[in-house]
Amino acid sequence: MTATRVDAEVIRRLPKAVLHDHLDGGLRPATVVELAETVGHTLPTTDPDELAAWYCEAANSGDLVRYIATFEHTLAVMQTREGLLRTAEEYVLDLAADGVVYGEVRYAPELNTNGGLTLAEVVETVQEGLAAGMAKAAAAGTPVRVGTLLCGMRMFDRVREAADLAVAFRDAGVVGFDIAGAEDGFPPADHLDAFEHLRRESVPFTIHAGEAHGLPSIHQALQVCGAQRIGHGVRITDDIVDGKLGRLAGWVRDRRVALEMCPTSNLQTGAATSIAEHPITALKDLGFRVTLNTDNRLVSGTTMTREMSLLVEEAGWTVEDLRTVTVNAVKSAFIPFDERKALIEDVVLPGYAAAL
Ligand SMILES: [Zn+2]
Repeated sequence: MTATRVDAEVIRRLPKAVLHDHLDGGLRPATVVELAETVGHTLPTTDPDELAAWYCEAANSGDLVRYIATFEHTLAVMQTREGLLRTAEEYVLDLAADGVVYGEVRYAPELNTNGGLTLAEVVETVQEGLAAGMAKAAAAGTPVRVGTLLCGMRMFDRVREAADLAVAFRDAGVVGFDIAGAEDGFPPADHLDAFEHLRRESVPFTIHAGEAHGLPSIHQALQVCGAQRIGHGVRITDDIVDGKLGRLAGWVRDRRVALEMCPTSNLQTGAATSIAEHPITALKDLGFRVTLNTDNRLVSGTTMTREMSLLVEEAGWTVEDLRTVTVNAVKSAFIPFDERKALIEDVVLPGYAAAL
């Protein structure tokens, strides 16, 4: 097959799947400004364009801890029913506008209880907002299926509670689990109890690993905790020398463990040096199940269309490569097999065939 190069407008229309995207990192700047006004929260600026620029500047500091600190302002407007409903609905509509046909949204309910909502009320409200967004997107002719991953914050002590919540809401839109927050100093095995509980209850989970910390973090996530996917995982390259895979890298490739890679986010946190050199390209070429993701659309000033365009422009990706990572993502989604199969056969492949 001849490799096909594509321009930005073609990319925008391609069907996309995103497995790694944080609800609290993807708000519309204008929504943050409006909601902040209603709850009396002071922002760095009340101009939406300036706020968007402020986020990118803070996120470009090259420091994961400072990057995470930018979430203060989005979380401030996500403490009420009104704020959660609106941000969840807009989240879905923004994915649909970006050509996303399947998305997994993740957030930590423990960070949304300052306004008095219980953990269960937070999850119910977000699901209500997501459902409203999915109904509107479908009515507009751009259907998108969004599943939820609940996160525990790895540096706090409520991870097990969050895992219990994922078990409780597994038949109500929650499809899996994750731990988020600062990776360095907070290894996955600290929360082994939560992961063992999820395994006993057959709830799939991914773990942020191999972003700020290296191979030991990825090893723990997979071989001690039992994660089915890895969030980021860029440091798996530490186990590949001259194209030869070590045992852990071999496990990841051969067991088809999806790597949820987020190029722009990695540049901002210093986990990668450029789009051209980002490990996603080498790992794709080595046959790893790589997936392409946005991580935090507001904080990183990005979209799936932009991430795809960057790889095409700066790393030589073709439309076939974009199709590969999209199919990879749907294959490794935490929804049932029959739904994944239908999405690939009825939506993703026909969409790429039309573009080729
Ligand atoms: Zn993330």
